This record gives sequence, structure tokens and C-alpha cells, in this order.
Amino acid sequence: MRIIPISLPTPFYIGPVNVYLIAEEPLTLIDTGPKTKEALEALRDGLRRARVRVADLRRIVLTHTHEDHCGLVRSLRDEAKDAEIFTHDWETGHRASRLQYEAHRTLLTRAGVPDDEIQTMRRLYDKMRSYSDSFGDYQYSPLVDDAQLEFESGSLSVVHTPGHTPGSCSFVREANRTVIAGDCVLKRITPNPILSPDPIDPSKRFPSLAEYLVSLARLRTFAPTLVHGGHGEPVRDYEELFNRYLRAIRERQSQVIGLLPKAGATPWEVSRGMFPTADDVHRFLAVSEAVAHLDLAYSEGKVQVELSGATEVYCPRGVPPAAREVVLTG
Ligand SMILES: [Zn+2]
Ligand SMILES: [Zn+2]
Repeated sequence: MRIIPISLPTPFYIGPVNVYLIAEEPLTLIDTGPKTKEALEALRDGLRRARVRVADLRRIVLTHTHEDHCGLVRSLRDEAKDAEIFTHDWETGHRASRLQYEAHRTLLTRAGVPDDEIQTMRRLYDKMRSYSDSFGDYQYSPLVDDAQLEFESGSLSVVHTPGHTPGSCSFVREANRTVIAGDCVLKRITPNPILSPDPIDPSKRFPSLAEYLVSLARLRTFAPTLVHGGHGEPVRDYEELFNRYLRAIRERQSQVIGLLPKAGATPWEVSRGMFPTADDVHRFLAVSEAVAHLDLAYSEGKVQVELSGATEVYCPRGVPPAAREVVLTG
């Protein structure tokens, strides 16, 4: 099976994104790049080098629906009229982003993010959305865990690997243990577990970090020899990466718990302590990270949480948050 990586420019801090052409019938593109002229040109160039035209594509498969990965899906589909689009049903947030504003607002308020910050985040989010067409009502076929994408020379197994987003999927060529993992596996950085409403119950948040740890372990069962990530170079030593990620997550968790004063702190306050100079969209990523680590620490019995109004206040286990006016609910 010929898997051809194509690197596309993005206007985002993370830099170029990798998309993958499976160069055999049915011609399949995994991820699309953001909706920019530059990305589309680079994609056309990459396809041309493989002697493929956009119109020839039969399948467009999305690892997840962040703008840098799915932005061009609609434009490509307009050109490749026979192409079928695949994404996981749990990628609700980005497919129908506008419907999720309220769910997001609730989650951010619960994390202690001040109102003016939420407004700023929303403006930045709207700007990000311009790099992708929402395809809420656009036809797509759901990716289902354990399903097979069949090709001339064999198949790719769909592996649901939630964490970075609830509907993130990886694709495994079991014959040679090659994986296309989107943003689940990145060589140089630990992917951010993005704060997301739970796809089943949007009033709750998705337990992103706990799910992510399960996904990393699940990929490990395939004993990958080559992992193509959404950004940067491929990973050849998955075992090293797996252990490095686990260490980084544990270290970050200790840091987060260490930042909790006896009087307790909101996830927003913890995120400001972790990343005091973060600006723009990085404040959202920072609070996502704080929430994810506090959730995991809570599920492991290392911190306790109480509600102060509509906001969560965390403190180290055994130390009730006495200095605040705490209203216990539920
Ligand atoms: Zn992503
Ligand atoms: Zn990405």
C-alpha cells in the first residue's frame, strides 16, 4: 500500500500539517489541510506529483475535524463529486460548531474563565472557523471503530482514538504495523487534550486525558513500526514515545497539583499559573490542559473539587477550600 505524505502550510502556530494520499483504488485522501489558497495549491502540487487530480479522489477521510485537518473538505468534495467523506460521529463540535457555543460557554464558566476572556476566546474561535467550512449538514459517512477501509492491496483498520478530540481516529495497516494517527501521535509535542463537551451529554465535558491514555495504550497493542502524525516527522519508535508521553503527563499532573493552594483554585487560575505569558488562543489551550489534568487527578483520587456558584474549585486532597465561599450543590 503506497501511503504518500503531503505537507501543507497552515496559518497556525503549529506550522505545516501532514495529509496522506493512499495511492491506489479507491484513491483516498486522509485529511485535507486548512481552507487557504496556499494549502490548496500545495495539495494540488502534491497530488500532481503522484499523478492524481482532486477530481479522481474517491474517499476523503478525516482523522478529526480541526480546521488544519478538515478545512478544505467541502471545496475538495465540490471537485471530486464521487468522493465519499468519512468522519467519526463524535466530531460534533466542529461539524456543527455554532450549536456548541452554549455548551462551550458552560464548560468555560465552570472552569472559572472570566466572561471577558470567554468573549475573546469566542472571537478567536470565529476567526479560526474561517479556515474551514462547517459541514454540519454536509453528507458524510461515519467512521466506526474496528471497521475496515478496503483498498486494492489490503485494508486499513479504523481505530477510534479519542483524547485530542472525542472523535479522533487512527488508521492501522496491520500487515506492516503502519499507523496514520492524526494529532493523536506527534513526534515533538504532547498533543493538547482540547476542552470539549461530551458528545453523548453536552452538558458534561469529555474526559479527554483519561480517554487519551486509553487510546495511546490501544495503539500500542498494534506494536507500530511507523506512525505518521498530523504534524512533523513520522515516529519510528512508538515505545519510546509512549513512555515519554506518559512521563510528561505524570510530570504535568504533579505540576498542576503543586499549583493548587490550600484555599483551592479554579482550572483557569491553575492555567494562568502554568502558562502566565499565554495569550490569544493559547489561553484556551492552557485552560483545556488544566481542566484535563485536574479531571484525571480527580478520577485518581488526588484532588477534590467543590462548586463555588457555577465554578469548580479544586484543592489538594484532604484540604477543603475553606477560604472561599463555597456553595455545595448536587
Ligand atoms: Zn487537532
Ligand atoms: Zn493538527
